[in-house]
Amino acid sequence: MTPKILIILPCYNEEAILEHSNSEIQQKVKTWSDKNLISHESKLLYVNDGSKDKTWAIIEELASKFDNVLGLKLSKNFGHQNAVLAGHLSFNGQFDAYISIDADLQDDIRVIGEMIEKFNNGAQIVFGVRDDRSSDSFFKRFTAESFYSIMKKMGIPLVFNHADFRLISKRALSELAEFKEANMFLRGIIPTLGFKSDKVFYKRLERKAGESKYPLAKMIKFAWGGITSFSIYPMRLVLWFGIFNFILAVLLGLYSLWSLIAGHVVAGWISTVVPMAYFSGSTMISIGLIGEYVGKIYEEVKARPRYIVEKIIGQ
Ligand code: UDP
Ligand code: MG
Repeated sequence: MTPKILIILPCYNEEAILEHSNSEIQQKVKTWSDKNLISHESKLLYVNDGSKDKTWAIIEELASKFDNVLGLKLSKNFGHQNAVLAGHLSFNGQFDAYISIDADLQDDIRVIGEMIEKFNNGAQIVFGVRDDRSSDSFFKRFTAESFYSIMKKMGIPLVFNHADFRLISKRALSELAEFKEANMFLRGIIPTLGFKSDKVFYKRLERKAGESKYPLAKMIKFAWGGITSFSIYPMRLVLWFGIFNFILAVLLGLYSLWSLIAGHVVAGWISTVVPMAYFSGSTMISIGLIGEYVGKIYEEVKARPRYIVEKIIGQ
């Protein structure tokens, strides 16, 4: 059976690269379907994540020019994760497998063939793993790799150096659709689905046009969101911090008792003010951290939609 595949490309302000990416991927799609690796009914889906430039106009044009192009327009910017999710869930059950890849094609489309072969051999999820990041700047590589290491230390089941370039089968997607959380961190959730999975390796390429939509602030936000949606580790740290403070406080108490017995009558103000500041400071940190999780609970409880589809074209 040749599988019917949906390739999902999230796009945020990608006018500079979209046409180029489309023609590259169209070429590949043609060879794959000529080789009977994928069905002729396979599609490309461009998800416009509230772009402020001409991205949507370009998608509309591509959808009218190519029969295999679909466009999905979100009503505003919902972020990369939600754009990818919207692409999958809007076509849940309609394709045999779904492949997500960044619109700048920094993740090498040449390994898609290998992904599909692994799917044909029974893998329900195939992770694309960057085993060579030499095209990334030192800074990007350092921040990204520390992110994976920290996540791992906190017990979050990430696949090292796997971003959102992956294949997921119809079956696995139907299970993913049951995850209703508002803070969807796909890279963490998909490995928890189980099923037979596999990996393909590639070298991360350079962005050919446009610039990264992930500046440092957004990367930190993304990493922090991932950590707090997946791990109670930061809260556990607060507990250890509290225990440490408690021991310190006991020692301080013993010291003051000793100085009373030893007859050091007047204690300096430092021994009053310093511990007070110290303990009130640590209490505040703890409360802040708890607030972080309470905020998350608040967001989940509201159960707001994670994205809003304005329209779908090309069908
Ligand atoms: N993207 C998105 N919504 C956003 C930010 C980014 O859909 O709010 C898309 C973007 O168009 C690209 C992918 O997510 O297809 C990855 O972004 P980018 O290439 O800028 O990240 P980097 O490769 O630098 O990590
Ligand atoms: Mg990129």
